[in-house]
Amino acid sequence: MSKSKKKIQAIRGMNDILPEQTPSWQYLENSFQKVVQSYGYSEIRFPILEQTQLFKRSIGEVTDIVEKEMYSFDDRNGANLTLRPEGTAGCVRAADQHGLLYNQHQRLWYQGPMFRHERPQKGRYRQFHQFGAEAFGMAGPDIDAEVIQLSATLWQELGLTEYLVLEINNIGSADDRKNYGAALTSYLETREKELDDDARNRMHSNPMRVLDSKNPLVQDALKDAPLLTDFVNQGSVSHYRQLQGLLDGLGIAYIENSRLVRGLDYYNNCVFEWTTDSLGAQGAVCGGGRYDGLVEQIGGKPTLAAGFAIGEERLVLMLDSLEKIPPSELQTIDIFVLVVGDTLAAEGLQLSRQIRARYPDLGVLNHCGGGKYNSQLKRAFASGARLAIILESEPGAEEPLKNVKIRRLDDSGESITLELADSVGKIAEFLQNS
Ligand code: ATP
Ligand code: MG
Repeated sequence: MSKSKKKIQAIRGMNDILPEQTPSWQYLENSFQKVVQSYGYSEIRFPILEQTQLFKRSIGEVTDIVEKEMYSFDDRNGANLTLRPEGTAGCVRAADQHGLLYNQHQRLWYQGPMFRHERPQKGRYRQFHQFGAEAFGMAGPDIDAEVIQLSATLWQELGLTEYLVLEINNIGSADDRKNYGAALTSYLETREKELDDDARNRMHSNPMRVLDSKNPLVQDALKDAPLLTDFVNQGSVSHYRQLQGLLDGLGIAYIENSRLVRGLDYYNNCVFEWTTDSLGAQGAVCGGGRYDGLVEQIGGKPTLAAGFAIGEERLVLMLDSLEKIPPSELQTIDIFVLVVGDTLAAEGLQLSRQIRARYPDLGVLNHCGGGKYNSQLKRAFASGARLAIILESEPGAEEPLKNVKIRRLDDSGESITLELADSVGKIAEFLQNS
């Protein structure tokens, strides 16, 4: 007796995107591409797998991502590799390696899967998708405003503007944050008893991460903590004020959030996040800012930079729940060709091809595999098509086939018989009246 084998399941937190869901994804990705192209950004593609060192150096050793979320492993040659947890590091590595950055203005975009070993829940997965835009070689604040404006244009395109809020902050330079970190550590030392283990572990290695603590007791202890704002250099402050002026001029509303620090070490000066309250806990859909030090940090020449990354899953959740996918985006079948009789396979395929050539916007499904008229008609109804075209050889009829039947797939069941040669031309008329 053969024992049935246990089915193999997908890895936890890694989603299959089924045919029913792909129209939402295509709509989102097409909209994004339309917007980035209209802003003059060019696509760049880079590997999903990179040397682990790239992410450690760019994202930062003492960040959530590097400490506990990366999929890292040794390959067969003993090289330590990591599935990319985000796109900026790889984008910068690729652009720098191929000489696209130094002394140039460069605007790039990318899209694809990212991998983080997080606890899966709604809006948070282990394989997820981001698209991002990155601009190099420009000091800002105009380019900072441009990347924010680009994201805002996408919300507008998708009809999501009213559901999203822009938060901005100025986190100063790496030096400012070092000074602030030292002050914060000293402060935390005076409140050590009120902290939890997590906060105690971080207060020396990365004190700013303590600010993110979800523990209300830790938040209480932070009440009188020094503020980053007081440590930010004058140049950065005036850059930030100018950015605000530009956003005001563009009519892009924002909230200043002094707690917004971003989970990646490479950011400096202006950072931002777009959030929504329509998704429950996972409300961040886009994060970005300046990262002037990153190119140098991974071995390139100093290059100014700003950009953002958008989480696609969260946007798809929003688009679906708010019913923002235009019906025209859904894949539809308009015409279903029934092929009844063993001898008509060639005629069926040829007729479908002629219909597609004449009406490139229509979806045409050709019934394959034979079968009785009734079962083919059932499939035609199930396909959602509006018209069926029926090729059927009458018993004893002479070849080749002369006539076809066009039948409305509605309750009327109305049909006409036409000469095969005329049928393609008549379809438009028939569809118009249905
Ligand atoms: P969060 O605070 O939700 O963990 P993050 O700050 O880690 O987000 P970023 O690294 O800034 O996120 O990535 C940009 C965007 O990518 C996020 O705003 C979010 O929309 C999306 N994102 C990040 N991690 C995940 C994940 N595990 N699953 C799905 N989307 C994600
Ligand atoms: Mg995160």
